Amino acid sequence: MSLFRNAVFSFSASRLTDLPPPDAAEIAFAGRSNAGKSSAINTLVGATRLAFVSKTPGRTQLLNFFRLVSGDFIVDLPGYGYARVPEAVRRDWRGLLEGYLTRRPSLIGLVLIMDARHPLTELDRQMIEWFAPTGRPMHVLLTKSDKLARGVASRTLDAVRNALAEFGAQVSVQLFSSLNQVGVEEAEAALGGWLKRHQRQPKEKPPAKGEKTGG
Ligand code: GDP
Repeated sequence: MSLFRNAVFSFSASRLTDLPPPDAAEIAFAGRSNAGKSSAINTLVGATRLAFVSKTPGRTQLLNFFRLVSGDFIVDLPGYGYARVPEAVRRDWRGLLEGYLTRRPSLIGLVLIMDARHPLTELDRQMIEWFAPTGRPMHVLLTKSDKLARGVASRTLDAVRNALAEFGAQVSVQLFSSLNQVGVEEAEAALGGWLKRHQRQPKEKPPAKGEKTGG
């Protein structure tokens, strides 16, 4: 069974200081609003509306945590690129995102959701700039690929790969469609690989009494 099935909403955080100790692995999802982030998360977890929790009033500017059966988390980051966001909100958003992406020790990888018709916006590049120095992997989902003709989709994939070639193996890119379920297995394999590699890494501290060590 997929590692992502049966995830449940766990909690939201508006400040880094509200986050729990970094004991479980976290995979963050970032993207321009309307790029298809909620749909992609729902597709991966196999739930029709789970990630729309992040769109309910009061939660759109928060980090929303969904707990996987393994105990690890998917973290839905606030969507960006709204034209009419007040400057103060934009500043808060920057601080929260930059702090989380650059300093969260348990964040093992970043999934970047981009509408295949408008990839690599300025804010997408900002996310990459913040996260790349951590040395951890990024995976780009070019969503709504069903809206592109096959040839155009394949050229877009090549163009985005070329644009990100400087990051080498740290960045991978694929086509994805929540509507047609295209790319679901490829995405599961990429993210599942991060979780498995993380589980195999020696832990800095011994597990607490009674805690399972996996395997
Ligand atoms: P978010 O704001 O990034 O969370 O985006 P949503 O997941 O809410 O999707 C925004 C809009 O794009 C909605 O109308 C979705 O139905 C549509 N959408 C999302 N993914 C796909 C897809 O793979 N194909 C198509 N055709 N539409 C999609």
